[in-house]
Amino acid sequence: MFEKVLIANRGEIALRIQRACREMGMRTVAVHSTADQDAMHVRLADEAICIGPPAAADSYLNVQAILTAAAITNADAIHPGYGFLSENAEFAAMVEEHNFVFIGPSPEHIRLMGDKIAAKQSVKEAGIPVVPGSDGPVDSVEEALKAAQEIGYPVLIKASAGGGGRGMKVAETEDKLSEAFKTARSEAVAAFGNGEVYLEKFLGKPRHIEIQVLADHHGNTVHLGERDCSLQRRHQKLVEEAPSPALNSEQREEIGRIAKEAVQKIGYRSVGTFEFLFEDGKFYFIEMNTRLQVEHPITEMITGLDLVREMVRIAAGTPLGYGQEDISFSGHAIECRINAEHPETFIPSPGRITDYHPPGGLGVRVDSALYSGYTVPPHYDSMIAKLIVHGANRNECLMRLRRALSEYIIGGLDSTLPLHLRLMADPDIVNGDYDIHWLEKFVDG
Ligand code: ADP
Repeated sequence: MFEKVLIANRGEIALRIQRACREMGMRTVAVHSTADQDAMHVRLADEAICIGPPAAADSYLNVQAILTAAAITNADAIHPGYGFLSENAEFAAMVEEHNFVFIGPSPEHIRLMGDKIAAKQSVKEAGIPVVPGSDGPVDSVEEALKAAQEIGYPVLIKASAGGGGRGMKVAETEDKLSEAFKTARSEAVAAFGNGEVYLEKFLGKPRHIEIQVLADHHGNTVHLGERDCSLQRRHQKLVEEAPSPALNSEQREEIGRIAKEAVQKIGYRSVGTFEFLFEDGKFYFIEMNTRLQVEHPITEMITGLDLVREMVRIAAGTPLGYGQEDISFSGHAIECRINAEHPETFIPSPGRITDYHPPGGLGVRVDSALYSGYTVPPHYDSMIAKLIVHGANRNECLMRLRRALSEYIIGGLDSTLPLHLRLMADPDIVNGDYDIHWLEKFVDG
């Protein structure tokens, strides 16, 4: 195992990884920008190194500074967390070239899954169901018209280099296609410097369901069930739950088995997530995330596994030591992402936390780096806490979540806590009856 791990991230996830490392008897190195001098992940680490000014491009994305920090602290391994450099294949490769272990998948797998067309093709070959669409890039309006005719309208034009829901355009009918194609193309050039686009069937009211997988260096793989992340605004997830209220046990088992087998065929290792849209009982792959995800705790709550610990063990070359038959699922878990934003306008609200009181009690977990007197800096993502609740069943989980939300005090700035309270009382949420468009209608009318 490693002696010292450098954590190339900040906020709640840096703390989350630190906790797992410490429990495994490893020392931790925090890196931070000048804006994060007083951050909890810095205070609790064994060692801390300042890697640059507030702007992420100069600090948390500063590869040279991070590698230098690892060298001078004698770290063995680097955990990238999520966001920042976590899905940067060049970074993963450089970490390895400098003889540190990258706690994550191989650079090749990160690169493959970062190219949407190549990713779709490779998972399709591994048996994963994909959205019907053009079997590769579409270069002209004529080609697009031809592909769309085969797929059937409405169609979605997507950028190969896409991310964050940008560069996507729907064409409802044939006469709208030419314009949508041109717009998607120019948006893709503007956003990613790459105008390559492809076509997919547009699904009208899908749910977002993703499967968590784990794979070691020795060919052992397991799936850890699904998470339902349909509650999104502008392609940002706000609430996630596991298991999904939309799946029956056959659907669950089948997609889990397919994902597990695909991981093995692809030769992937570490944690990974297959994201699907789910409509009318069918799964359609949209992308694979080659990192630890924000919503990983709900899987931990229903499986009892520590996913960060598993990532570290896998990176160190340790075999999983268990098989699919050893994985059991217990109860229900829901995560609410709490952002420093106005609960109705979503205007960011950085600033000083005057009062802080997190909830507790049986089945309640708070992953956050907040404390009373802490100042949330304006430079980074607005997510400041994750409230994760577990119950014996969905109903108990919802009751407990409402109770926990009502206890939570984050004073001094606007947060989305009131929005979560409203959501958890809504009949559609209580009934599990929502698709990926539900939340936008709820909050934006
Ligand atoms: P990105 O990498 O930009 O986030 P994704 O492929 O993950 O792109 O898609 C982002 C979101 O766009 C999905 O969560 C879903 O809401 C929507 N979406 C993607 N593909 C389709 C499709 N074929 N039909 C309907 N909605 C889609």
